[in-house]
Amino acid sequence: MLLSALTEKSPLLWTNPKLAPQSESLPALSLQRSNIDDADQRLQRFAPLLQKCFPELEASQGIIESPLIPVPNLQTQLASNADEHGAFYLKADHSLPVAGSVKARGGIYEVLVIAENIAFEHGLLTANGDTVLLASAKAKELFSQHTISVGSTGNLGLSIGVMAAALGFQAVVHMSADAKDWKKERLRKRGVTVIEHVGDYASAVAAGREDAEQNPLAHFVDDENSLPLFLGYSVAALRLQQQLRDANITVDTEHPLFVYIPCGVGGAPGGITFGLKQIFGDHVHCFFAEPVDSPCMLVQMALGDQESGETRPVSVYDIGLSNQTEADGLAVGAASLLVADFMRTLVSGVFTVPDEDLFRYLYQLHQSEAIKVEPSATAAFAGPGLLFGSADGQDYLARHDLQQRLPNATHILWTTGGSFVPDVEYQRFLQRGLYS
Ligand SMILES: *Cc1c(COP(=O)(O)O)cnc(C)c1O
Repeated sequence: MLLSALTEKSPLLWTNPKLAPQSESLPALSLQRSNIDDADQRLQRFAPLLQKCFPELEASQGIIESPLIPVPNLQTQLASNADEHGAFYLKADHSLPVAGSVKARGGIYEVLVIAENIAFEHGLLTANGDTVLLASAKAKELFSQHTISVGSTGNLGLSIGVMAAALGFQAVVHMSADAKDWKKERLRKRGVTVIEHVGDYASAVAAGREDAEQNPLAHFVDDENSLPLFLGYSVAALRLQQQLRDANITVDTEHPLFVYIPCGVGGAPGGITFGLKQIFGDHVHCFFAEPVDSPCMLVQMALGDQESGETRPVSVYDIGLSNQTEADGLAVGAASLLVADFMRTLVSGVFTVPDEDLFRYLYQLHQSEAIKVEPSATAAFAGPGLLFGSADGQDYLARHDLQQRLPNATHILWTTGGSFVPDVEYQRFLQRGLYS
């Protein structure tokens, strides 16, 4: 039944039968809370360098973060009798500085890890040394001998490319066919080499990986297999924890937290979920959002796990889907197996959204809150409706004793990208949303 609903592209919520209590799930993982703290500390150490590289980080002193925004007007549009369900917020990663998307978190972090390692090797930096040294002419000269490359549908390329170029690396971005022209243009203007591929995201990644293998001074950011990326994303959870405290929002048994995050290959939503589960444990319920044409994580988690416990890779092509979606950030045919494995006991569920709904949400967000995002970033908006309104959602709430606690709940819709979308492009999105 799940399979036919997927192939018919009916929007649906799948809840994860392997979701486990934190007491079982977290100790079994190969990464722990200390890994997140380590990533957080590295970002703090490098904040002065980031501030020097990017003047827009002056006010935040080199910390790349987005606000948590209450969206009462959007809430009334997304759910009927909305106040019975708690309060809706956006985690506004569309406005993340430097990269304009959630990719700023993982991508910039991984470039810093690479730069730090090279600097250590060459005695340019010591463990607690001043990271601003990495903006020196000497460091640029060193980094210019190295290449950082990545395969991307667009936004990861923007993040990695901009950061790598700022430090003086040669930056190469392998773009999949669905990548938007303006994203390629933006990169080329910063001196990044953009290589266009006719294939999908996985083939762009494979081409990049192969290319980098030829060159000993090349560092390939592997979106399908990278732990640094994953950990860079996970730091979002620490930042969100502080923002919830600052807003006097309690998260505990009586005040559950629901988080809805758009999912492509899985690194961003996976890293964030890993972080949130480490901090809030069983009180947080994380759901991923995917286009009906590209539900790669859902397919992997629901169909890739055999009864025997063995995992086999399954793609959306295997079930006859096209992976053709306007949500370019989510146009991924096969999920990261690394992330799928981490998510096996952590993620509450995955839901799917038709493209037309993405544009409608984009329009509604513009009308109700005057906020500009890209289509991929609105995929999360379908989550609360499916949780409250579908049989599987109701069942999830009942199983976890959440129904009577919903009025105290906090729902966070993660808007993952969009502040850099050129205006002409955005006007077209709005038009499309108005008529959908
Ligand atoms: C990349 C991206 C995502 C999903 O991140 P993955 O790591 O690919 O799962 C979501 N939204 C936007 C706008 C993105 O660019």
